[in-house]
Amino acid sequence: MSQTILIVEDEEKIANILMDYLKSAGYEADWINNGSLALTRFKKTNPALILLDLMLPGLDGIEICREIRKDSSVPIIMLTAKAEEIDRLIGLELGADDYICKPFSPREVVARVKAVLRRVGSGTMTERITEGEISLDLGTKLVKINNQNLTLTRSEFNLLKTLMSQPNRVFSRNELLNQVQGYDFEGYDRTIDTHIKNLRKKIKTCLPDKDVIKAIYGTGYKFCEEADQ
Ligand code: CA
Repeated sequence: MSQTILIVEDEEKIANILMDYLKSAGYEADWINNGSLALTRFKKTNPALILLDLMLPGLDGIEICREIRKDSSVPIIMLTAKAEEIDRLIGLELGADDYICKPFSPREVVARVKAVLRRVGSGTMTERITEGEISLDLGTKLVKINNQNLTLTRSEFNLLKTLMSQPNRVFSRNELLNQVQGYDFEGYDRTIDTHIKNLRKKIKTCLPDKDVIKAIYGTGYKFCEEADQ
């Protein structure tokens, strides 16, 4: 059963080349050329990953990424024609999994798609991490707290997974940043604080009396299930 990659790209030539390469790498490829139709197509095809162009007619890539991240942690690779845009995009904390600059080699795109899918672990894995009331399904990326479903972004899920994989171990912001972005970017320590803040807020909705993610002053964060230390 092959995974579907959704390409949101208004340049037909680029889309066709990408589709050819993805298909020969064993993926299904689906293409949409208009930003305003991307969300409905995404919901319909339920792809394993999205290649998302930045400049699009209708909704642009930034808006689409934001919309999708409201309720999905599907891997997203952003495509942009400007190398200088990448820093700004990362700063926006869109929750994209990777960024590729045009012009790109289609081979490189396929390699990045594979790498992101590998990182995300979207195989048939049904592993689960459970700590107290919180349970993460690493295959489906579903989070349950006291049997309530909790919707997390991809970055929030990865952070929680990392912290829960070793309860009570303090992770530095840099370590956590690598989990979120998969590669090193200096100067975005604050990104982690923002993700953690949002993650805590979401967990609080299900566990109002607990604070399972603790900030360790000057160091980073740890997951701690027991009542306050
Ligand atoms: Ca474009």
